[in-house]
Amino acid sequence: MIFILKENLQYSSLIEKIENVSASYRIVDIYGVRLVIAWPDSLVERIDDKSIKIKVKTKRPYQLASNEWKDKTTVNVGDVEVGGRGIIIAAGPCAVESEAQIIEIAKAVKRVGAQILRGGAFKPRTSPYSFQGLGEEGLKILKRASEAVGLPVVTEVMDVRDVSLVAKYADMIQIGARNAQNYSLLKEVGKLKKPVLLKRGFGMTVEEWILTAEYVLLEGNGSVVLCERGIRTFEKSTRFTLDIAGFAVAKTLTHLPIALDPSHPAGRKDIVEPLALAGIAAGADMLIIEVHTNPEKALSDAEQQLNIEEFENIMRRAKAVAEAIGRYI
Ligand code: PEP
Ligand code: MN
Repeated sequence: MIFILKENLQYSSLIEKIENVSASYRIVDIYGVRLVIAWPDSLVERIDDKSIKIKVKTKRPYQLASNEWKDKTTVNVGDVEVGGRGIIIAAGPCAVESEAQIIEIAKAVKRVGAQILRGGAFKPRTSPYSFQGLGEEGLKILKRASEAVGLPVVTEVMDVRDVSLVAKYADMIQIGARNAQNYSLLKEVGKLKKPVLLKRGFGMTVEEWILTAEYVLLEGNGSVVLCERGIRTFEKSTRFTLDIAGFAVAKTLTHLPIALDPSHPAGRKDIVEPLALAGIAAGADMLIIEVHTNPEKALSDAEQQLNIEEFENIMRRAKAVAEAIGRYI
């Protein structure tokens, strides 16, 4: 149950009533309002108090992330707004490999129209023998590229111990698919004032994915963008199965902006374009695409990274699809 409180009114009597029925509660300041989330509903639904402005009983397991109480949210990444009529393109390499590499790519993707630069410094690799990313050095390089070129950056944090370090350099913090169920990590980024990109775990239902956002919101950080990036199915012709239906369903359930990553489900560059265009048609607020100036030489995900010309071609067609549905890039 969400209790939206009236401004500047004592709510100690409400808390007392919740405690009296032995229910649990959290006080959350988010989106400019003070809320009391109390559960289970069966214990708190009859509670009334003069401090309550609106009472919302959500029908879903997530409350704060649900659109039953709030209209569409926009999230600011640097000065870029995600969730408005404009569709935001984040592009860049899978991994930060060197200063020259990331600056060259940053300039190129900006020229083509990307508004956010992506690049991993901490890489979650299946094999411990694969390139693991440059770590803190990679973050510093990424930050320098960001400043040199004038693009905000999104980069992944894999470990609770690195959250403040990554937050120092990043404009948006990415939680990867493999960490989507790392609830300590989700709570930790919830304590930040930075936007968070939450990739869907590849074994997660839509409901479980939206619940990851609930962890971040409950800590008071409302700047969350969800990201569909493919799930694991029996289909072997692609790396993952892009769940465009699940993506569309998620749009009907949450007020949070939703991004789509066409690169990782594809696993190969030749079908990144149809997946990207499908994402836009289905209502993506942001696309995050892997682009490299020399994909063949990339230290990770070489098969799926686009070169600049391929990215440019996708952008041209993406703009046309965006316009066809009343949006723009
Ligand atoms: C990435 O974006 O670099 C990445 C590793 O994505 P995911 O967590 O979706 O696999
Ligand atoms: Mn990658």
